[in-house]
Amino acid sequence: MRLAQLKAQTEQILRGLHIDPAVIAHRTLPYFEDVSEHLLVETETDADTGRIYRLTAPASAAWHTMKQHAAADGVAIYLVSAYRSLSYQADLIRTKQHAGIAPEVFFTSLAPPGCSEHHTGCAVDINTPGCDEVTGVFGETAAFTWLQNNAARFGFVMSFPQGNPWGFIYEPWHWCWHSNS
Ligand SMILES: [Zn+2]
Repeated sequence: MRLAQLKAQTEQILRGLHIDPAVIAHRTLPYFEDVSEHLLVETETDADTGRIYRLTAPASAAWHTMKQHAAADGVAIYLVSAYRSLSYQADLIRTKQHAGIAPEVFFTSLAPPGCSEHHTGCAVDINTPGCDEVTGVFGETAAFTWLQNNAARFGFVMSFPQGNPWGFIYEPWHWCWHSNS
């Protein structure tokens, strides 16, 4: 899908949420095509909720390999989010709206539908035992240090470092797998 179509799709979803697309007009947000769900595989089950996290097959394989290597180094990592459909992303936005948070604020930590790496099936949110919240504090964990030193070997890149050009907050927990091709 071309960029213009992706932008139009995002604007349509925003209008459906009663959000003026102008709120993101000043942001140079990336747009991503959403993956077909039949390309996703079950990657991991949430130990607390039983929710199944899905990724594309190559991203899933890379995640499992990375997780095994982390474990061998004594570092436990697990998924707290993986593939999210456009409609699920819209649901997350509704939750923020119901909490009375303004779009200008929640769009610094939650991407508009169409601009989230999570619907590519290649992005993961990671946590580690002992870290209560998936916030900037994850950046102070041993798991984060391990990821910084090792994740690139498995194709994972931290998408939103401090001062990233897209106007997202620092997200040390959010990594995206990029094919080596
Ligand atoms: Zn994320």
